[in-house]
Amino acid sequence: MPTSSMFYTVCSHCKAYCCTLLLPSLTHKERQQILKAGFPDYFKKIQKDLYVIKSDSASKCPYLKEDYLCSIHKVKPNLCKLFPVVPFYKNKKRGCVIIQCPLYPFLSKEVIDKMVKKAAKIPLHIIEYLWDISYKEKEKYKRFDYQKI
Ligand code: SF4
Ligand code: SF4
Repeated sequence: MPTSSMFYTVCSHCKAYCCTLLLPSLTHKERQQILKAGFPDYFKKIQKDLYVIKSDSASKCPYLKEDYLCSIHKVKPNLCKLFPVVPFYKNKKRGCVIIQCPLYPFLSKEVIDKMVKKAAKIPLHIIEYLWDISYKEKEKYKRFDYQKI
C-alpha cells in the first residue's frame, strides 16, 4: 500500500482528485467501523449491505479535509484504500484496472500486486454498484488514462 508520507506529498499536490471523482460504495461492516471510530455518518443506504458516501454539490467527499487528506484514513472504505487500483467484474470474471493518476508512478509492482490481491476480496455487489455509477459519470474519468492489470 502507498505510505502516508507518499499520500501527503503526492495526493495533497493532486488536490485529492479521486475524492471528488466518484465516491466509493461500501458494506455495512465498513460503515460500522467508521462510525465506531467516532466519525460522522455521511452515508446513504442503497440496499441491504450497500452504502455510498453522500457528496456535496461539487461531488467532494465530506471526509476530505482542507489540506486534501482523508480524515478517516485508517478506517476509510476498502475501495479508497485500493485506489488507484480499481476492481471490476465482467463476463463473470474479476479483474482490476489501474488509474494513471500522479500516485501511479510511485507504486512498485509488489505494492500493486498486494492491492490486486486485496481487491479480489471486495464483494461483487460493491464492485457492480461502483461500475454502474462510473458508467453514468464516465465524463469525469477523462482526466487520467487507465489500463487493465
Ligand atoms: S490517489 Fe491519485 S487521484 Fe487520488 S489524490 Fe492521490 S494522486 Fe490524486
Ligand atoms: S473516504 Fe477519504 S479517501 Fe475515500 S473518498 Fe472520502 S476523503 Fe477520499
